[in-house]
Amino acid sequence: MNGKQITIVGGGLVGSLLAVFLAKRGHRINVFERRADPRKSNVYAGRSINLVVSHRGWTALKAAGVHEAVERIVVPVHARMTHDRDGKLTRLPYSIDERAIHSVSRGELNKVMLSEAEKFPNVKLHFEHRCTSVNLETGTCTFHNEATGEASAVPADVVFGSDGAPSAVRQEFMKHRFTFSQTYIEHDYKEIAFAPNADGTPRMDPHCLHIWPRRWFMMMGLANTDGGFTGTLFMPHTASAVIPEAGRPKGAGPGLARRGEATESHPAIPAFDQIKDEQDLMRFFEEHFRDATPMLPDLAEQYFRNPQSNLAIIRCSPWTYKDKVALIGDAAHAIVPFYGEGMNAGYEDCKVLNDILNEHGDDNWATVLDAYHKARKPNGDAIADLSLRNFVEMRDLVADPKFILRKKIEGRLQARHPDKWLPLYSQVKFSDIGYKTAWDEGLRHDRIMEQVLAMPGIEEKWESEEVERKALGLLEK
Ligand SMILES: Cc1cc2nc3c(=O)[nH]c(=O)nc-3n(C[C@H](O)[C@H](O)[C@H](O)COP(=O)(O)OP(=O)(O)OC[C@H]3O[C@@H](n4cnc5c(N)ncnc54)[C@H](O)[C@@H]3O)c2cc1C
Repeated sequence: MNGKQITIVGGGLVGSLLAVFLAKRGHRINVFERRADPRKSNVYAGRSINLVVSHRGWTALKAAGVHEAVERIVVPVHARMTHDRDGKLTRLPYSIDERAIHSVSRGELNKVMLSEAEKFPNVKLHFEHRCTSVNLETGTCTFHNEATGEASAVPADVVFGSDGAPSAVRQEFMKHRFTFSQTYIEHDYKEIAFAPNADGTPRMDPHCLHIWPRRWFMMMGLANTDGGFTGTLFMPHTASAVIPEAGRPKGAGPGLARRGEATESHPAIPAFDQIKDEQDLMRFFEEHFRDATPMLPDLAEQYFRNPQSNLAIIRCSPWTYKDKVALIGDAAHAIVPFYGEGMNAGYEDCKVLNDILNEHGDDNWATVLDAYHKARKPNGDAIADLSLRNFVEMRDLVADPKFILRKKIEGRLQARHPDKWLPLYSQVKFSDIGYKTAWDEGLRHDRIMEQVLAMPGIEEKWESEEVERKALGLLEK
């Protein structure tokens, strides 16, 4: 088979889909993955991250022709279910027509996608091969064989760095004219698994994303196919840190206040470093997540065994080097997970790259990579901002009556004028509209809804013609 010799560094979620797209075009693909083959080893042990696949993720999977394999391992999720401190549940559908996002185990998805890539005779997977350097001019990568300790140099026409947030390929870009920032947020996360009932049935509605929003911190739960849930607790890592109000993206809502000192307006905020033993933990859960505690008989064992991980946002530019090397997925744009879009954005990178190759052909990589960077970089920045904004929405606003009223008004506008009003969440999760366009439109919606919610008596008349006219009038301005 003809085609270019292509090296993909990183056989994770994005690298495996990219291999499928490029193999279908007739290129010869070598995927080098640092870890052992997850289908034969237990590389995901102790980490059971669940991801949601959204519309744009499916669009990419369909374009690659691998969606049917993924459909078999997902659970549809139609709504958020908030749990208040007393265990009261409120269901908030994601869209007026109950459209679903889909929960999937990251490990299972990775295994399925590696098998899909391996079906192509022109794809070779090399596990336990860690990339240690890349020559950006020649496309030659050096790998360290983790099993034998040997080093090898592999030449290629084109190299893709899909090696995630700590990317070794990106590291090489640092030696050139390259802009880079890495920002840690104050919140870390820890996973806690909810087992199913003894008969295998789920303990909560599996078709909802469960959220325990507690303003400064939160827990969420996503269903697995075995009846269990993966819970994730997001909380500041330390009680003494301060998150400034400044620097938050416009429209992102309130920043965090000083922690550690309780005042009426600034309550003391729990943090991971305050939970030192089982007693602290049980007291904390009893106070904040009372209805979850009976579903977690092994809470303390899990809490003190499972790792606490941090979250960072990585922005960089350019994502490409001449006609030789490109960054893709988290290597180019690591974001916080609160919109559930990191992988979806990476999948969309692959689809857009494939579209650009359709347009320019497979022999003009300087043009292709330049077009890819220009098409994706603004969207990578936008989804980083959107994801921070959604953190505020999830941990804080979903429990706010004004926010719930806004959702109802927007739902009504969407139902009556689907051609005019598509709420931001639907633009991000249920459409292929670019993240940048969605972000700009979302900020415009914020300004309009601020005025609508300020109308006297809005709580009583939100379903009236008057409110509808006001919103649409502002939209046309
Ligand atoms: C708690 C949490 C929840 C999330 N939820 C969602 C969600 O709901 N929806 C969503 O779309 N996204 C979600 N994400 C984000 C998603 O996990 C990432 O965006 C996605 O994994 C990125 O895929 P990737 O292939 O670019 O990188 P990775 O998944 O990090 O894969 C990179 C691969 O490269 C390999 N590698 C690294 N360095 C080297 C090297 N030097 N040489 C060779 N191989 C190397 C790694 O072993 C790995 O297999 C979530 C993330 C977190 C942390």
